[in-house]
Amino acid sequence: MNYFLTLLLLTSTLTSCANVRRQLGQALITDETEMKLGTKFAAEIEAKEKIHPDRRLQAYIQRVATPLIKNALQDRPNIEYNIKVIDDPKQINAFAVPGGFLYVYSGLLLIAEDEAEIAGILAHEIGHIVGRHSANQLAAQFGMDLLVGITLGEDPLQLGQIAGQLSGARFSRDDENEADRYGVKYTVAADYDPRGLIDFFAKLKQMKNSRSSDLGKLFASHPPTGERIKHIEKLMLKYGVEGGERHRKRFLQATAGLRRAHSSAHSGYGRK
Ligand SMILES: [Zn+2]
Repeated sequence: MNYFLTLLLLTSTLTSCANVRRQLGQALITDETEMKLGTKFAAEIEAKEKIHPDRRLQAYIQRVATPLIKNALQDRPNIEYNIKVIDDPKQINAFAVPGGFLYVYSGLLLIAEDEAEIAGILAHEIGHIVGRHSANQLAAQFGMDLLVGITLGEDPLQLGQIAGQLSGARFSRDDENEADRYGVKYTVAADYDPRGLIDFFAKLKQMKNSRSSDLGKLFASHPPTGERIKHIEKLMLKYGVEGGERHRKRFLQATAGLRRAHSSAHSGYGRK
């Protein structure tokens, strides 16, 4: 086990071979183990964060994600995805937990302008799950003994700490590139305009320039560098970009209540 772990660690940090990492990760952490881990972490996260009480909003996010998930299951079957909106208008973030749990903060929905932007973010996070990035990172960081212990019902002191760090996890550039690749592939397959992801990051960048306040964990863990944008544009050429939908009207209708409730909190954002 240790031998594999060392190899996993080495390949995660030294080489750019995503396939090797994925195969090693698969050998170390089965889908079943990953989902058990995810269930534990999700319980920790949901005990600390406030899940948004609006069922229609929750159902809406589920609907946006459904066609993306359908495509993701072709690359990694046997995962049960579970998507929830966290009620925190100040957090501009979304993150994936091993085993298929995805969380989107209401703060992110408040600055998005159409469904394609949200679909782009969700598809990218789904890409991290398909690529097993988080599970592999945890195995390398904390060791398999601890992770297996968690799935067996042992609740180590680190459980809360591990769950807490998932919302701000930083991945290698290779992992990010891979998540972008899956993200563009799934948004295009689901008939969304893949420019949504680029537009969202461009907006964050602009806001960062015009405001001194912190724009949150998503910006920090996903800096919208020129290199990243170029990579996404290349992927769009590969997977196709014509005819994708933005669904602006549908998005604005579904999030109208959210916007009304937080209009004062976000009056400084200069929205149109
Ligand atoms: Zn990412």
